[in-house]
Amino acid sequence: MQQNSVYTSKLSMACPTCGSGEIVYSCSPACCFNHVCADCRTTFEPATAVVSGKPRPAAGSIVPPDPLPDCTEPTAACARCESTAVYAAASGELVCGACGTWLTLELTEIAPG
Ligand SMILES: [Zn+2]
Ligand SMILES: [Zn+2]
Repeated sequence: MQQNSVYTSKLSMACPTCGSGEIVYSCSPACCFNHVCADCRTTFEPATAVVSGKPRPAAGSIVPPDPLPDCTEPTAACARCESTAVYAAASGELVCGACGTWLTLELTEIAPG
């Protein structure tokens, strides 16, 4: 067997207004993806887009972050399967831990505080 595990880390996002990394997610995926910058109060919603043409990792080869992010940390949903198990791979790209789709992050609904 080839060793091809994809190690991941928690999502990190920078505020689109001030660049701060202090982003708080205070809602739940069942409701909305409204995030707030702790420094300037800008709100935004992260979304993902599928990266086409990149082979998906084999099932089970994606290693989730350890420890897993808690519910107040930045969260985005997979553009393909809507799972919130979206993590950052070492390459800087995002990958869905549920379906293996490679994703890019987009910030939407930006409202400066
Ligand atoms: Zn900010
Ligand atoms: Zn997915």
